[in-house]
Amino acid sequence: MSQPFIIPFTEGSMEQKHLMGGKGANLGEMTQAGLPVPPGFTLTTAACLEYYENGRTLKSARKDEIRKALDALEEKSGKKLGDPANPLLVSVRSGAVISMPGMMDTVLNLGLNDETVQGLEGLTESPRFAYDCYRRFIQMYGDVVLGIPHYRFERVIEEMKEERSASSDTELTAADWQVVIERFKDMVKEETGQPFPQDPTEQLERAIIAVFDSWNNQRARIYRKIHKISDDLGTAVNVQMMVFGNMGDDSGTGVAFTRNPSTGEKVLYGEFLINAQGEDVVAGIRTPEPIAALSNRMPAIYDAFRDISRRLEAHYRDMQDIEFTVERGNLYILQTRNGKRTAHAAVKIAADLVEEGVIDRRTALERVDPEHLDQILHRRVDPDARLNVLTKGLPASPGAAAGKLVFDADTAERKSQEGEKVILARPETTPDDIHGIVASQGVLTSRGGMTSHAAVVARGMGKPCICGCEEARIDLKAGELTIGETTLREGDQLSIDGGTGHVIQGEVPLIDPELSVEFQRLLEWADEFRRLKVRANADNSEDSQTARQFGAEGVGLCRTEHMFMEADRIPLVRDMILAETADERRAALDQLLPLQQGDFKGIFQAMDGLPVTIRLLDPPLHEFLPNLEELLTELVQLRMNPDADRREIGEKEELLRKVRALHELNPMLGHRGCRLGMIHPEIYAMQVKAIFQAAAEVIREGASVEPEIMIPLVGHVNELKEMRKLVEEVAEQVESRTGQSIPFSVGTMIEVPRAALTAAEIAEEADFFSFGTNDLTQTTFGYSRDDAEGKFLHHYIDHKVLPENPFVTLDTDGVGRLVSLGVREGRRIKADLKTGICGEHGGEKRSIQFCHQAGLDYVSCSPFRVPLARLAAAQAAILHSSEPDTDSSAKIG
Ligand code: PEP
Ligand code: MG
Repeated sequence: MSQPFIIPFTEGSMEQKHLMGGKGANLGEMTQAGLPVPPGFTLTTAACLEYYENGRTLKSARKDEIRKALDALEEKSGKKLGDPANPLLVSVRSGAVISMPGMMDTVLNLGLNDETVQGLEGLTESPRFAYDCYRRFIQMYGDVVLGIPHYRFERVIEEMKEERSASSDTELTAADWQVVIERFKDMVKEETGQPFPQDPTEQLERAIIAVFDSWNNQRARIYRKIHKISDDLGTAVNVQMMVFGNMGDDSGTGVAFTRNPSTGEKVLYGEFLINAQGEDVVAGIRTPEPIAALSNRMPAIYDAFRDISRRLEAHYRDMQDIEFTVERGNLYILQTRNGKRTAHAAVKIAADLVEEGVIDRRTALERVDPEHLDQILHRRVDPDARLNVLTKGLPASPGAAAGKLVFDADTAERKSQEGEKVILARPETTPDDIHGIVASQGVLTSRGGMTSHAAVVARGMGKPCICGCEEARIDLKAGELTIGETTLREGDQLSIDGGTGHVIQGEVPLIDPELSVEFQRLLEWADEFRRLKVRANADNSEDSQTARQFGAEGVGLCRTEHMFMEADRIPLVRDMILAETADERRAALDQLLPLQQGDFKGIFQAMDGLPVTIRLLDPPLHEFLPNLEELLTELVQLRMNPDADRREIGEKEELLRKVRALHELNPMLGHRGCRLGMIHPEIYAMQVKAIFQAAAEVIREGASVEPEIMIPLVGHVNELKEMRKLVEEVAEQVESRTGQSIPFSVGTMIEVPRAALTAAEIAEEADFFSFGTNDLTQTTFGYSRDDAEGKFLHHYIDHKVLPENPFVTLDTDGVGRLVSLGVREGRRIKADLKTGICGEHGGEKRSIQFCHQAGLDYVSCSPFRVPLARLAAAQAAILHSSEPDTDSSAKIG
């Protein structure tokens, strides 16, 4: 069946969201429920896609349909587009299927021209209002449709204000606006060679096209990239009768959330402005009043709005973000959508809605984006730190951040690429600053409210943000931020606390977060649904404890080399590597053994009763020695120094010889992983001895441990066979010496394609497989995991050669097939073969979904990602379960 190109609000509903976009579908649904929505219609995403397919032109059939829809709208509103006596004015707004707030374009007050403006003047008896509307229209149309930069119009207004010695726009009179309009029109003529279009039908068609085009503007494309939204969806366009919040003191406009989007608290939360148009609130140009104050200013409107907001929340069974306008004492709802919220609020709202009986646990789990949980685990300002609080702004997005002050998005991006942490300070942000927000640790603005651009965008990204910090005077030209007596310049350290709104001088210490009751509750629900176990990658007892607190069910990967890297170990490790004789090597290993044993003991104690997988040494030995170039430089300097100690030079030369001997052209494909154990079995033997002796001690003390010894980078079963024998021999020795029997298992990492391809043979020797997808991605693609990102991977992703960064999201078509094959083949030989994943993908939601489907037993990720993995695992189980959703849909009550 062919898709409709236009749907009037009276026929729209959420079922048509894929065509009408979120905004249009919600307007349709509200219209059908009898809520006070100004009439209008939606050009669907099908119309947008057709427009693109048709070489970016509207087919004439579509123009006819627009005309018909307009006729119907004119009839409903009792006004006519272009009628000088009673003009219909419309808004033309974008509305994608997945909300992209502020990224695309909007034109308001469309239908005004030199004649209809007089009609509006007559109808409203307010010349100032009419001409203010007209100049706003020319400005927006000029910017969006004609491509004349916004600031050019602003400059004309500034000049006018100077001429009239006016400090704000509101001081300009109708006559002043008329002059401004003439100057705007002159500018349009000059810039485009054409007069400002007076024909409202032409205005409308061109505005629709411009909004379709804005689907592909730079900021929309960046936004889609960040939020992984397909470029092929297109946007719908909503054409709606204008209502005016700027018709006097009985008019106004506002935005409100049905719950606090920062904390999730169940209170109506938002702001309004008397005598203003909607864009004034969103743009953050005037600082609005809190919504609660509306109950004094317009009590009846407040009550009606509160009632509607409750109905909308009950209907959508989720927190709503509602835009409203009051035109001469009449309330209109312009938009409702599921409100963007912080992770903290998302968790609280989902858990509260379950408690309130509005949604079930399953729905609650589906509502929270696992990636967002990361934000909750974000750090905050150490409460014991002495703070030099300079001022306080609106706490727009929680979390604390510290960094060097920058004043523009480009600098933010550049400095962050240079490895600096930055805080972006702006009077207000616009969608053009999005790359700067992405690059910053946090954002500070001196203007705008809790629903301003900066606030909404930062919350969505989980960045700390403070808005409306009016005491902060930002001089962009001078590159200075002045608060009271203090002036800070670009590069000065600044900290912000988006939870309290505090702006703090210097770099404050940050601490780890505590987890809310709702957070724990949600994760417990996740545990009821998930099949995958979640373990942690932890290399010491502290990480193991943290992981356990977050709900880890064991250690999936302990990288023992990290123990070697510690300052007190490195000299011993070097002695071990540089040893000339077996005795020398054994002596160094003997000294390392008790240190490793202590480390293992700490981990076993922290993980009492849970499995711990310990991987034997993996990296090439040269990683423990000084860098070749640095060593050469030092040596040259020593040799040039006549006073240098000859012995020291000799030692350095010896070290250089060894470093050169260990040097490899392709170290990642070289002497590493189990190849180390094959050539230097004494190193692995020491590690295994340390593991078993630690286990024996801990078991004796009453704890329960069952070490899982993991052999890395196996490519041939014979490697595992030999290493398994070594482990078993050492186990026997330790058991007979301590008299303690130690339960253990031996398994391997699957991190090279050959291991996956020959998984059946390898399974004969393995008790478990752990997919090391970092190396498996590297070896399957043949991309160096250390070099690819900096050299070509970004280009590949930007140009869609690859859909994703395969080191972040598992490449299911290639690497994933090897994982599935490995699991299948391994289990064919050993039905109870335990399988898991310990590459970085184990903490990434889509990869976790794949692991669920591939039938792995567990995922293992960094301790702070354990909650995320628990939730993602539950979502995967829900997605692939056949149980029907128990929630039933309700009508707007
Ligand atoms: C892997 O390769 O996926 C893995 C976990 O090991 P590492 O990152 O230490 O090489
Ligand atoms: Mg590896």
